[in-house]
Amino acid sequence: MPALVLYPDPRLRLASKKIQTFDSSLQLLAREMYDIMARADGIGLAAAQVGTLIRLLIVREDDERQYSVFCNPVITYFSKKKTAIEEGCLSIPGVMGFVERSAKIRLTYQDLAGAPHQEKAGGLRAIVLQHEIDHLNGILILDRTIQITKGGNLVQTNHGAA
Ligand code: ZN
Repeated sequence: MPALVLYPDPRLRLASKKIQTFDSSLQLLAREMYDIMARADGIGLAAAQVGTLIRLLIVREDDERQYSVFCNPVITYFSKKKTAIEEGCLSIPGVMGFVERSAKIRLTYQDLAGAPHQEKAGGLRAIVLQHEIDHLNGILILDRTIQITKGGNLVQTNHGAA
């Protein structure tokens, strides 16, 4: 079972690779990520956060036993309307901050079998998806916070808000 990769581990700063092979090891990784996310009471997790640098992420559903899997997600539309909520990150324990994001997005992705899909997302789901897709690009909330509300002393200044 993989473990959570924690800030300031340099792997969190790398871009993840596109998934080319949709096999049982991918399904197993998604399942293990769900177990890690559930145990940490998270609402989303990217594969980079468990040390596997592929473009895979999961998002918890309203029913906490359910989760959606996104392979190779690409955001194709960002609404001009923005929203900002206080976000935390399982990889940066103890730190919270307001992050500005698009209120609505559209994205394309593949499922665990490689079949293509698209989705329109709003509300918390749109925020979680933008947060997790940032992880696939090595971007952390520290890069986007408009205001750190908790744990600013835990953050290395060379990775400060930008
Ligand atoms: Zn995160």
